[in-house]
Amino acid sequence: MSERFFVSPPVTGDRVQLTGDEARHLTAVMRARVGEQIVLFDGGGAEFVAEVTTIRKQAADLTIVERRAITRELTREVTLAVALPKGERQKWLVEKATELGVTRLVPLITTRGIAEPVAAALERLKRTVIEACKQCGRNRLMEIAPPVRAGEPFASAPAGICVLADPNGQPLTKIHLESGVAVTVAVGPEGGFTGEELSAARDAGWQFVSLGRSILRVETAAIAMAAWAATQ
Ligand code: SAH
Repeated sequence: MSERFFVSPPVTGDRVQLTGDEARHLTAVMRARVGEQIVLFDGGGAEFVAEVTTIRKQAADLTIVERRAITRELTREVTLAVALPKGERQKWLVEKATELGVTRLVPLITTRGIAEPVAAALERLKRTVIEACKQCGRNRLMEIAPPVRAGEPFASAPAGICVLADPNGQPLTKIHLESGVAVTVAVGPEGGFTGEELSAARDAGWQFVSLGRSILRVETAAIAMAAWAATQ
């Protein structure tokens, strides 16, 4: 069976139990049988071959057969600070950022932002991260960091290169990224960053970059920036 299953809490011994969505996926959807081997990951970086030992109504027990230290992470840290759009576009953004290997997503609270990054919404996004990791083979979960007010990360620019997507910025091709250097990219809300938010960022040393002449949706700009940072 080539399907991957997520197990939480992290694997420590040689026995694990799948419950909830993952148990349902294994037993009701994939119709796994006792004795079958599957691949598990716990989000910490490794994956495990495990054999199904018991199947119950709401849970399945497995025995770890092999631990494989397979990393599919980027060779640099990429942080995506973004004023999240709403609904399906938010989910799409998180799914694609996870696939591209973004290390962490920081929800930005901005003056013109529309989606309030409340705890329940962020919890739902964690499920989207898990689903994307199951599908794309990533063994480390993209972190969903606590929300930050736009002025704050800008006031103290994180280490490495900090670039802010701005339609009036310099072409992205002007930025040179050395290998291994951490990159933080920032993308504003549908209404754009305010003048104050932009000057706080400029004063803190963020470089402003343009993705072309069209005005892009938040999620398009976020994924274009993430793809750039991930593939340099
Ligand atoms: N109404 C705003 C556009 C907001 S688009 C305006 O006219 O300026 C949402 C966010 O996507 C922006 O804050 C910016 O971070 C990013 N973005 C959109 N189009 C872009 C482009 N062509 N280049 C760089 N960033 C862009």
